[in-house]
Amino acid sequence: MEKETIIHRQGVSFLSYRNLTDKSILHGFSLRHGGQSRTPYDTLNLGLHVADNQCAVLENRRRFAEAIGYAPEAVVTGQQVHGHRVTVVTARTKGRGHLQAADAIPGTDGLVTVEPEIVLMAHSADCTVLFFYDPVHVCIGLAHAGWRGAVAGMGPAMIDAMAVQGCLRENIRVALSPTIGPCCYRVGVELTECVPHKYQQTLNRRKDGEIFFNLPELQQLSLLDAGVSKANIITSRYCTHCHTDLFFSHRAAGGVTGRMAGVISLQKQE
Ligand SMILES: [Zn+2]
Repeated sequence: MEKETIIHRQGVSFLSYRNLTDKSILHGFSLRHGGQSRTPYDTLNLGLHVADNQCAVLENRRRFAEAIGYAPEAVVTGQQVHGHRVTVVTARTKGRGHLQAADAIPGTDGLVTVEPEIVLMAHSADCTVLFFYDPVHVCIGLAHAGWRGAVAGMGPAMIDAMAVQGCLRENIRVALSPTIGPCCYRVGVELTECVPHKYQQTLNRRKDGEIFFNLPELQQLSLLDAGVSKANIITSRYCTHCHTDLFFSHRAAGGVTGRMAGVISLQKQE
């Protein structure tokens, strides 16, 4: 199996990661096809927080859930405020953010659970969705981080939260979804001033004065600093901005577009 594979199932396509492929969990990251949303949310928009038709989004979420194999009403989402707060959720929390974005867990970009039958869901369109799995302690997590979250330490905050749950850092596997890549992420000086000094290598200052930021590299470096082993991290081969045929890109679309979703869930052991 390749480290990152596109799976086509029941009219929907999603990415699957080798280090998350295990009988104990379900996971996937959606592509943009196979839904019923219209332009500019075409077609598998899974975000309720954009100005798409809500019925279309719920139908899209139903299709994605069916393709991966979970009950759509078992999802829980955070409000995703570009912060680095992690919330530990239980099966009682399920359904939060399923029918309306206003009901999502407030102030939260990261979710962690040790319980089965709750499906963690996070959204992105250029930002990164980070998947976490510890097969030893059996704990999962899911986080959303664009540059603000990455600079604020979203990845390390997830590792810390999983360590509190009893995970050993070296056992935690991480997969990073497609995100805007260093090929396309031209940034301004205000962003570069927020990047910690030790991660300045993630900024490519070109001779013509343009600056390009390597968001997935910063995510990866901060995870390594948090004690994750390099062999346990998979980064995506796809830049969302380069591949608008496959993914939604907030920047490529000029700010109005749909959202992909990542999901991860522990399976009930027989
Ligand atoms: Zn690109």
